[in-house]
Amino acid sequence: MATRRVTVETGTVSFDHGAQYLPASDSAFAHTMRAAAGRGWLSDDTLVGVPGMSSLPRALADGLNISQQVEITRLVHQDDCWHLTGPKGQYSARSVVLAIPAPQARALLGDADPLAADLSRVIMSPCLALMAALPTDSPRPFPHRVDPAHPLAWIAQDSSKPGRSAAAVAWVAQAGPAFSAMHLEQTPEAIAALMLPLLCDVIGADPDQMLHVQAHRWRYAQTAKPLGQPFLQDHGRSLYVGGDWCLGPRAEHAWHSGREIAREIRESAHVV
Ligand SMILES: Cc1cc2nc3c(=O)[nH]c(=O)nc-3n(C[C@H](O)[C@H](O)[C@H](O)COP(=O)(O)OP(=O)(O)OC[C@H]3O[C@@H](n4cnc5c(N)ncnc54)[C@H](O)[C@@H]3O)c2cc1C
Repeated sequence: MATRRVTVETGTVSFDHGAQYLPASDSAFAHTMRAAAGRGWLSDDTLVGVPGMSSLPRALADGLNISQQVEITRLVHQDDCWHLTGPKGQYSARSVVLAIPAPQARALLGDADPLAADLSRVIMSPCLALMAALPTDSPRPFPHRVDPAHPLAWIAQDSSKPGRSAAAVAWVAQAGPAFSAMHLEQTPEAIAALMLPLLCDVIGADPDQMLHVQAHRWRYAQTAKPLGQPFLQDHGRSLYVGGDWCLGPRAEHAWHSGREIAREIRESAHVV
């Protein structure tokens, strides 16, 4: 659930370059989304974050002690304690919750880890996204379009969502799985050069009028084969591993996984 804000000559414009909206297929998640809408973090009818998709996680994180932009590159369990290392420093903890894509969790824990085999069963596929801003008098043929047969399987006019800036017409195009896999290793510039003509063709825009163009590579975007249970756990090491990939491809699956991990931690703390 990511929002990218950029300044163009007509003002600031934002793109939801990850999740576009929040379908809720079960009542517990739907209830939480309604509560979020009641607090103004989400638009009830369109199920999008306001003023961006990142508003919801930002609001949920309010008051918590969170360090952002901190990569962990090494994770070692020694003497009943976790030691976490990254370019910005070292941390230690009694318990660790790894809520990152399964292939990244597997890489961090290592092939010899007891959870590695379960993590390997999960299959995640990439998605290439294009962000493009156009002047306000440019064509706006639709608010969003889904066409699995087109290389740009999902196209959204992000500026048509509630609470967005009117400084420009913001488009986000997400390539389908085949196109994304084929061009995954190209540079963001090369990916943008491939996707922009396709987008302009669909929306009837002039590429020379672009105020901003940028591609983003999501390497682990969509869960193609989930784990089939809400999380993985190693009780002896107080390690929990979860994320959307446990149960499915959407934010609500991540929410369910996280909630079940929290429940487990609370229950085990109670037992102690
Ligand atoms: C293009 C795209 C479109 C999507 N559209 C929708 C949609 O419309 N609706 C919907 O419900 N879902 C959608 N999804 C899926 C949704 O975004 C995910 O289900 C959800 O974000 C998963 O949440 P998560 O917390 O499990 O993992 P993530 O959101 O992947 O969060 C994991 C975080 O861990 C961080 N991380 C990874 N490794 C490390 C490390 N070593 N150290 C520190 N941090 C690390 C990552 O940077 C990331 O911030 C979409 C996803 C993509 C990519």
